[in-house]
Amino acid sequence: MARIIIKNVNKTYAGAEAAAIGNFNLVIERGEIVTLLGPSGCGKTTALRLIAGFERPDSGEISFDDRAMVGRGQWVPPEKRHAGMVFQDYALFPHLNAEKNIGFGLSAGRDSQKRVRETIQLVGLSGYENRFPRQLSGGQQQRVALARALVRNPSVVLLDEPFSNLDADFRVRMRREVGSIIRQAGITAVFVTHDQTEALNLSDRIAVLNQGRIEQIDTPRQIYNYPDNKFVATFVGQTNLVPGTVGEDGGRIKTAIGEIPCNHTHGKPPGSRVVCSIRPNSLKMQADGSFSARLTEKIFSGPLIEAWGKVEISEGEPLNMLFHLPPEEDVPIGERVTFAILPRGTAVVDE
Ligand code: ADP
Ligand code: MG
Repeated sequence: MARIIIKNVNKTYAGAEAAAIGNFNLVIERGEIVTLLGPSGCGKTTALRLIAGFERPDSGEISFDDRAMVGRGQWVPPEKRHAGMVFQDYALFPHLNAEKNIGFGLSAGRDSQKRVRETIQLVGLSGYENRFPRQLSGGQQQRVALARALVRNPSVVLLDEPFSNLDADFRVRMRREVGSIIRQAGITAVFVTHDQTEALNLSDRIAVLNQGRIEQIDTPRQIYNYPDNKFVATFVGQTNLVPGTVGEDGGRIKTAIGEIPCNHTHGKPPGSRVVCSIRPNSLKMQADGSFSARLTEKIFSGPLIEAWGKVEISEGEPLNMLFHLPPEEDVPIGERVTFAILPRGTAVVDE
C-alpha cells in the first residue's frame, strides 16, 4: 500500500472554459479510505483519472510514497502505477468467465492461480468462477470488478461510483462489504461518489469537492457536525442556515430564533455577524421550546417526518425552516408548533 500525495494539481480540458480540477492538494495516508464527494461535474472522475494516470495534469505533482508518478520531470504510465481501478460500469469482458476476468493479464504460473483463488475467496465469489458476466447479478459483477482490481496486490485502489448501478437496499450491503474487504486487505483506497450517505458510511476522511476545488477535508463526523462553509453544510445532510451574532462568551450565537449553544465558531470574536448551520435533528418539538413555526409542508418518510415551517422573526422576512418530527406525530399543516434548540449539531459556517 502507498501514501498518495497530490500537490497543486491543475487540469483544464482542451476547449473547456473552467478548470476541471484547480489547485488540488490532498494527502491520502497508507491504508486510508478517502472519498471524493461532490455533485455531478465537480471533477471527481478527473481527479481519480489523474491519480490512475489516464489523464495528465497541466501542472502539479502526484506521488505514491516517494516516487513521483507525474511532475518533477517524471511520467509513470497507468500500467506501471500499481493502481487497481473499479469503474462505474464494471467494464468486465463479456466473453470471459469470472475467474478469467479476474486473472486477465496475469502470467499463467502457479502463483497467479493461487492469488486468483485467494482473491475470489476474499470477495466472496467462491462457486461462481465459471459464470460469465451475463450470468451474474449486479452485485456479483461488482465483486468480480473489485477482485480484478485487488488481484495484483495494488498499492492503491481507485473506485469511481462503484455502487451506483445497484438497487438501493443492495447498495447499502455492498457498501459495507466492499468497505470491509478493502480494510481487511489494508489497501489505500480512493472512492468517488455523489452520494453523501455512502461517503459518510465508508470513509476515514471525506474531501468535499465543488467546481474542481476541495471545500473541506475531514472525518465524516467533522464534515457533518462542523461543516466549514455553506456549500458543505447544505451538500452533506440537510440544514437550516440562520444568521446571528457571536455572543460575549464566544460559545453562544444570538439569532432570531433564540440563543444557540455553538461549540464551533471558527474563532470568530464576540460581536461578529455569522451564519449558523442548525441541523433539523438539533430542533426538538417541545411545548416549552424557545421559538415556534407554522407548518407549511410535511413528508412522511418512515423513521421521521420532514416538515417545513415559517418562523416569524422581529426583523425581516420570516425564515423557512426544516424540522424532523417523530413518525407518530400528526400535526396538521397550518398549525403552530414550538421547538427547542438542542445543544448539538450547530456550527458557524463561512459564506
Ligand atoms: P464528475 O466525475 O464529478 O461528475 P468529471 O471529472 O467527469 O466530473 O468532469 C469535470 C468537468 O470536466 C465537467 O465539467 C466535465 O464536463 C468536464 N470533462 C470531463 N471529461 C472531459 C473530457 N474528456 N473533455 C472535456 N471536458 C471534460
Ligand atoms: Mg464522474
